[in-house]
Amino acid sequence: MKSISFFGASGTVTGSCYQLNRNNKASLLIDYGMYQGTKDIEKLNHVSIPYKPYELDGMLLTHAHLDHCGRLPVLLQHGFKNKIFMTEPTRDLLEITLHDAARIADKNEAVIPLYTEDDVDILMGYIEIVDYNQPFELGGFEITYQDAGHILGSASLRIVDKQADDDMKSIVFSGDIGKWPHDLLPNPYLFDEADAVVMESTYGGRLHTNEDPLTFIAQEIHAIERNGGALLIPSFAIERTQEVLYLIKQLKDSGKVKAQTPVFLDSPMALHVTEVYKHYGALFNDDFHKIIMTGDPFEFDGLHKLEKNRQSRIIDRVLGPKVIIAGSGMMSGGRIMKHAVKYLPKESTRLFFVGYQGDETPGRLISEGADTVKIMDFHVQVNAHVSKIDSLSAHADENQLLEWLRHINGVKHVFLTHGEDVARDAIDPKIQQTGISRISKPQLNDEVLIKG
Ligand SMILES: [Zn+2]
Repeated sequence: MKSISFFGASGTVTGSCYQLNRNNKASLLIDYGMYQGTKDIEKLNHVSIPYKPYELDGMLLTHAHLDHCGRLPVLLQHGFKNKIFMTEPTRDLLEITLHDAARIADKNEAVIPLYTEDDVDILMGYIEIVDYNQPFELGGFEITYQDAGHILGSASLRIVDKQADDDMKSIVFSGDIGKWPHDLLPNPYLFDEADAVVMESTYGGRLHTNEDPLTFIAQEIHAIERNGGALLIPSFAIERTQEVLYLIKQLKDSGKVKAQTPVFLDSPMALHVTEVYKHYGALFNDDFHKIIMTGDPFEFDGLHKLEKNRQSRIIDRVLGPKVIIAGSGMMSGGRIMKHAVKYLPKESTRLFFVGYQGDETPGRLISEGADTVKIMDFHVQVNAHVSKIDSLSAHADENQLLEWLRHINGVKHVFLTHGEDVARDAIDPKIQQTGISRISKPQLNDEVLIKG
């Protein structure tokens, strides 16, 4: 008899954490992410959850996004003593992500940090590297990581219970499923068979547009080349920044934008992540693999990489058109904030959103047309031209989620996680139409039996 306890991403898109239980014993923990969003949501990071880290045979991490890994160091504080499994690029990205999170928490006087950078260093000693498509045994389970095509190193997991006394032997945990085709990554792995599936539902009820990002970015850069303004691109450090750099490189190399137009990458985290990306050429799709083997796909004329905080000031001294790429992607922190304060009041500025904007974030407010927005205690007038593109999403849309699920034969029970309730409710009837009638939409801290 098996069950899953849902300790996060249950009716929300952050805080992923699921505990697989067998015969009333906690066996495996899958992800331990941070809640991100409004102050009320982030308070959940400090609420203790009824999980049992001391009973666990191991911990399985799907990928290095903060909403999947951000609470990991807390595991050790709570008595976990076993191994934490992940792919090698996930390990490299995790180290960057968690150090960044610890630094940000340390500077934020409004919250008590969950852990320190020293805790992150200790955590790294517990990591066990696994390869895609190489099954391994743990606590009577056979576990296989497969490429989820979401970010570099991301995985979906197939877990087979070798001691099962019922007919619910195999479970697939989707992790975050990538959108395909993708400029850099291969398509998500499609599983053939499973008895139960825990599936993300971020884009339940929604479809991506087919906007060509290359055309959009070219238009934005042409506009500032004409008016001499600044183009601000708030960007997530992992994956999105690398995609944007590669898009701009293509435009520069083909002469579609001017070689001399400066592009400032003002994000130390994104710089470190980009270095990790260059190490794992073999994990990209065939086309991008060829490109990365013959040169640096993230390097081009006019690119300035700013590591130190004080170097940011260089940007203001450059007159004329300039592109500024900085975190955070939702303008809820990071170096984009000071650029926003300076440049958003100027009519010559363009602000270009390349990713999802969470509820109540400054990015969401601006993208929905706010005239003024509060940033770093300033009430900033938004006179900039604002636009956004949806097609660079890292998540499969509803049609792709259904296609991914339909490929799996024998599914008797689906658990919908990592989606707002409105998204889960939208995709639920479409899953039922595929013939799967047992669909669970767990709430936080629910324990649900895996049943046929
Ligand atoms: Zn993710």
